[in-house]
Amino acid sequence: MKLLSDWHIHSRNSCDGACLMVSDLVREAKQKGVSNFGLTDHLHTPHNLPDIARSRAEFLSNDPSPHFHFGIEVSCVSQWEIREIAGGQHKNPVYGLRSGGKAGCALTIGIMADDIRKYQIEYVVGGAHWPMYVPMEREAVIRDYHRQNMFLAAHPLVDIVAHPWWWMGHWIDNNGKYTAEPWFDDFSVIPRSMHNEFASAAIEFNTVVEVNIGANLLNRQYPEGFVAQYLEYLAELQSQGVRLSIGSDCHAAHYDTDFEKTSRMLESTGITDDLWCLEPRADKKKSSTVAADGVPPPLNRSVCAGHVVLLGGERPSLRYKRSRRASGRARASP
Ligand SMILES: [Zn+2]
Ligand SMILES: [Zn+2]
Repeated sequence: MKLLSDWHIHSRNSCDGACLMVSDLVREAKQKGVSNFGLTDHLHTPHNLPDIARSRAEFLSNDPSPHFHFGIEVSCVSQWEIREIAGGQHKNPVYGLRSGGKAGCALTIGIMADDIRKYQIEYVVGGAHWPMYVPMEREAVIRDYHRQNMFLAAHPLVDIVAHPWWWMGHWIDNNGKYTAEPWFDDFSVIPRSMHNEFASAAIEFNTVVEVNIGANLLNRQYPEGFVAQYLEYLAELQSQGVRLSIGSDCHAAHYDTDFEKTSRMLESTGITDDLWCLEPRADKKKSSTVAADGVPPPLNRSVCAGHVVLLGGERPSLRYKRSRRASGRARASP
C-alpha cells in the first residue's frame, strides 16, 4: 500500500521542541506524495493556547490547500490541574502539573468547544502522555493508561486516539533503550479484555485509532519484539472494525518520516489501506449548510468523522468523511 495521508504532525509552534516550519512541511509532503495531512501541535492545558494561536497563524500564512488541515493534539489531563493552573499559582506549567494530583482523579482535556471554534480546529487528536499520579508499577500504569484511552475514545471532542500504549520512558537502560516495564518485554501483559473494551468504545463513538509511526512503530528506543506485538494489536483493532489513521508524529526540522518502511510493516501484518481521511475543506458557503452525506446538519451540530457533536454551532467550512460504520448518534459527555 502507499500511505498518502498523515494526521499527526508538529510544527515549531509546539511546546515540546518540535522545529518544523510549515512552509517546509507543505513542500516536503508534496515531494513524498503525502496528499492529505494535518498540523497537530500540542495542547496540554489552556496554558498552551498561545502556541495554538501561533500554529494557526503560520498555517494560514501558507495559504493552505483544501487537503492541508488544521488540527490539534491534546493530552489526557486532570480536572484538578486545569483548576490549579487557572488559579495562576504555578509558574510556566508547560506540561500541566505532573505531580501532586490523586490517582483516579477526574480526567479531562485542555480545550472546549469554544476553543475549537475560535481557532477553527478541524479535528482533535487526543493521547495519553503520562501516568496520572499512579505509582510507577506495571499493573497500576496499565490500568491507568487503559482508563485514559477509554476516556479519550468516548470523548465527544476527540476524533482520533493517538498512539495507544505509547510510553515515554521511566525505566531506561544505560544504552537509552527502554527496559522491560511496563509492557515492552511482553505486550500481552495488557489484558486482552482491555483491547476489546477499547475497540468497542472506538466503534461505538466513531473514534479513530492512530497508527503512530514516529512514537511507536519506528521508535528506536522500543524493542523489536514489542513492535511486532504492537502491529498485531493494531491489525486486531482493524479486524474488529476500528477505523485506523496514520500519524507520523513528526517533531523534526524536516518531514523525513519513512512511509515506505511503515507501509511494509503494515502490509506484513495484514493491515489494509482502508484508512481514515478527512475530506478536502470545502468552500465556506457550500459547506456551512451541507454535511458529508449531503444532508443539511441540524442547527447547532457539527458532523465530524461520523461524530455528531453538540458544539453550540458548526465548525467552520468543514466537511468530514463519514465512517462506513457511522451511526451518527450523539455522544454523551464523559
Ligand atoms: Zn502524543
Ligand atoms: Zn504528537
